[in-house]
Amino acid sequence: MRIASPRGILSAGSVFFESSAVTGKRCGFLPPNSKTQKGKFTPTATALVVQSSFQQQKSSEELLVVVGAGAAGVYGAIRAKTVAPHLNVLVIEKGKPLSKVKISGGGRCNVTNGHCSDNMILAEHYPRGHRELRGSFFSTHGPLDTMAWFSDHGVKLKTESDGRVFPFSDSSSSIIDCLMSEAKQRGVSIQTGKVLTTASPTNRGKFLLKIEKRSIDYVENVEADYVLIASGSSKQGYDLATQLGHSIVDPVPSLFTFKIHDSRLAELSGVTFPKVRARLKLENLQRNIPQLTHEGPMLVTHWGLSGPVILRLSAWGARHLCSACYAGTLFVDFLPETHLEGLKAILIQHKNQYPKQKLFNSFPPSFGIVKRFWKYILDREGMSGDILWASISNNSLIAIASLLKQCVFEVRGKGQFKDEFVTAGGVPLSEISLNTMESKIRPHLFFAGEVLNVDGLTGGFNFQNAWSGGYIAGTSIGQLAVEDLPEMKKVECQI
Ligand SMILES: Cc1cc2nc3c(=O)[nH]c(=O)nc-3n(C[C@H](O)[C@H](O)[C@H](O)COP(=O)(O)OP(=O)(O)OC[C@H]3O[C@@H](n4cnc5c(N)ncnc54)[C@H](O)[C@@H]3O)c2cc1C
Repeated sequence: MRIASPRGILSAGSVFFESSAVTGKRCGFLPPNSKTQKGKFTPTATALVVQSSFQQQKSSEELLVVVGAGAAGVYGAIRAKTVAPHLNVLVIEKGKPLSKVKISGGGRCNVTNGHCSDNMILAEHYPRGHRELRGSFFSTHGPLDTMAWFSDHGVKLKTESDGRVFPFSDSSSSIIDCLMSEAKQRGVSIQTGKVLTTASPTNRGKFLLKIEKRSIDYVENVEADYVLIASGSSKQGYDLATQLGHSIVDPVPSLFTFKIHDSRLAELSGVTFPKVRARLKLENLQRNIPQLTHEGPMLVTHWGLSGPVILRLSAWGARHLCSACYAGTLFVDFLPETHLEGLKAILIQHKNQYPKQKLFNSFPPSFGIVKRFWKYILDREGMSGDILWASISNNSLIAIASLLKQCVFEVRGKGQFKDEFVTAGGVPLSEISLNTMESKIRPHLFFAGEVLNVDGLTGGFNFQNAWSGGYIAGTSIGQLAVEDLPEMKKVECQI
């Protein structure tokens, strides 16, 4: 049986202890002379359990525990420590810090979106959250604030023509290095390889947290004054929220491509359409809802359809599509700028102008389509490309025009969009105050990022939710921590 002193156990893996030495304060969760207890929370005999003794601690040694070192958690931790430098801030991360930032945007990290200075328009980019996020959320810390924050901390950014903002280096490492170095400088402790498994309120208004290491049989009990749950879409994070009294809106995937079983379409793989109008119809929805019609670029892939317009439909239709088992009908207008009558007139004019040309070899250039797609349209209409334009009936021309205006595809599943993926669902926004990100159910409990029932479209909107939420939560926690300080100490804090 292994028994170690708490000091021995914690100093081995604890960055927290080192960082609190920098601030000259005694670390919040390391008990000065408590005895190790074994077997209290784990069934096995080798479990090591460390109990905190916070009873003796003053309010100036308060502890914030952040669950998850993702974008929201790290940004929130830095902000809390900026507002209240005396606050002990401990981030618990089960894997590697900022791992999604690393892979985001194909390794480039689409930090935010620079084309939405109007908060009302910005909020429209969140299928879950579009109503609630119209208020103070983005005015407190919106895309411009995020961009200013990273610029002020030495990360040069660039905005692409579609509004997506990336680090000038085109490498997500620039963002990670910046956040990690700022966290270190501020004295935020990030402990990795540890999972926060349970949380319960104490009768003194604090939180008793159980932290476990994955690899070894080891348990720490920590008493925290504030908890920020920034656990992304992890089930453990949802469990913690429910343990503390919150409900969870069922998580479902958002931002995916559509699988379409059409071998002729697959031959068009790689073809892009700069602007189509696409409408999704689902059996479980009797009426057409405006959010299921979108315009934008579309891309044909090996397995179906992708591109911004499809991703937008997948996001707005995420819940309905899930309950319809990802089966539906997609109506695509390939030439949304021209009416049906206009298309017919263009086709008849082409027929009159080029009667001796073969159907396959010639089509109106104003359509702006590629030859491969024209062939697909002819195939779908059962027309031979070898016949001459002169021999096509006007009815056939009307059929071609109609197909270009309303081409039907049967959606039969969802595919993967490698560059971005997000989960709809989580803690309902009605259960938190968006001005502070504090729980309406339990004081001193905060949420930020994807753990909430908020998700955005592609283009940097999901990270923006994480930065905004993290910043607001960090500010609120910092302010609460400062409130209890003596007046002289307050002056030292930057709010
Ligand atoms: C491939 C990919 C690319 C993406 N690209 C972009 C992009 O370019 N732009 C954009 O805006 N969005 C992008 N997104 C979405 C974006 O990454 C997420 O919306 C964002 O990371 C959410 O931040 P978060 O901090 O809320 O959660 P996360 O980044 O998921 O962080 C949560 C962290 O909490 C940890 N954790 C969870 N539970 C526990 C626990 N109990 N104990 C300890 N640790 C725990 C997890 O390990 C994780 O590290 C992308 C997503 C994917 C998957």
